[in-house]
Amino acid sequence: MSLLEIRDLHVSYPNRKGEFFAVDGVDLTIEQGEFVGLAGESGCGKTTLALSIPQLLPEHSRIAAGSISFNGVDTTALNEEGLRAIRWKEISVIFQGALNALNPVQTIGSQIQEPIRIHDESVSKKEAQDRTLELLEAVGIPSHRASDFPHQFSGGMRQRVMIAMALSCMPKLVIADEPITALDVMTQAQILDLLRSLCDKYKLSMLLISHDLSVLAQTCDRVAVMYAGKVAEQGPTSRVFGSVGAQHPYTQRLLRAYPNIRHERKFIDGIPGYPPDLSTLQVGCRFADRCDVALSRCATEVPDLIDIGGNQSVACHLVSENQVGVQ
Ligand code: SF4
Repeated sequence: MSLLEIRDLHVSYPNRKGEFFAVDGVDLTIEQGEFVGLAGESGCGKTTLALSIPQLLPEHSRIAAGSISFNGVDTTALNEEGLRAIRWKEISVIFQGALNALNPVQTIGSQIQEPIRIHDESVSKKEAQDRTLELLEAVGIPSHRASDFPHQFSGGMRQRVMIAMALSCMPKLVIADEPITALDVMTQAQILDLLRSLCDKYKLSMLLISHDLSVLAQTCDRVAVMYAGKVAEQGPTSRVFGSVGAQHPYTQRLLRAYPNIRHERKFIDGIPGYPPDLSTLQVGCRFADRCDVALSRCATEVPDLIDIGGNQSVACHLVSENQVGVQ
């Protein structure tokens, strides 16, 4: 049994015409101890998908269809009490923007201890303090700084505090939503290394959300690429960025939109156009207007996510028609 199995998930937001689907029929699986990356442009639905797992979705949004099985329990069927039992203790979230997420008038030690005391009544005050100090050391902050306040730390150090908070109740799954945005490149690399090492050390599963494919390529075991509310491609990092390569035209264009320091210098190749407006009815492949290899059927037929072997799957008519030779 996988730790997390999302099946045919639909999450909607209201609009003037009724509702539109920010997540539209998504399947995603995360195994115990697996580090999975979720990529895509802003507004493609990756944060909505991630927040639907512990059901921390914004007010008025709703899970309209599908299931989220976590450790064998369908979280979409849980009431508020059932959800409280799994948040932090089983599933925790590292939010964007550590500066805004930390309480400026509370020491970082007490902020890390707080979820332990609230969500795990079996842990004594002394044990919670010891665990806090251990976590601070684990994320690279000297434990004697537990009594310092957030403003006494740099942006990268505050993000480390957020990571320690997310691990405070020893969850099985950590969702990291753009955890390195707004950090400098050196600090980004340190935080990514830290996440990877903590994942291995504590046998955690991790869902790392990023719009930057290069971040996912260097950190994750598997990657899923979303476009306009759907998964365009998913597979092992070693295949998608290595032996087989990205197969979906959108993933390929995303990769070409980043400079490659190992090849000759050239202008990066952006993707023309914009993602579709999800509040209007979507027909056919959602990438069709921007795809330079579109077929005539792409305008009218929605491509299914098909397995092309090696645990890699792609939602593209061109790939399904040329599948021979891909495996
Ligand atoms: Fe391009 Fe068609 Fe594939 Fe969509 S289904 S990515 S439009 S080739």
